[in-house]
Amino acid sequence: MPSHTFTVKTVRRHQIVDITAEVARFVAQHAPDEGICCAYAPHATAAITINENADPQVCEDILDALGKLIPRGVWRHDRVDGNADAHIKAAIIGPGQAIPVKDGKLLLGTWQAIMLVELDGPRTRTIHLTLR
Ligand code: ZN
Repeated sequence: MPSHTFTVKTVRRHQIVDITAEVARFVAQHAPDEGICCAYAPHATAAITINENADPQVCEDILDALGKLIPRGVWRHDRVDGNADAHIKAAIIGPGQAIPVKDGKLLLGTWQAIMLVELDGPRTRTIHLTLR
């Protein structure tokens, strides 16, 4: 089973980083007729989503909306290490995505991008890709 691991260095507490090109490169190297590509972040305060990045304001809006829905500093875990909001946001979005592959390419829609969602940065985040 082909796999690939890479890291992303984030620079802000909340940040969305487009990783589509890295995932597409990995899929192109193996170019299966059909398959599924899994992108997984082994972190409790980061997530992976698929959404629009053609207008990067969408990403800013997503982060703003998460901030309005889930305030900082009011949760039990904030007494432990002050990042409960990051855990809750990461739990809602989820740590990974599975993308169908056809004719050697990711089956993404025109406006879809695969993105790492940093919720407690800056940190170095690991992303595991697997292809089946
Ligand atoms: Zn924590």
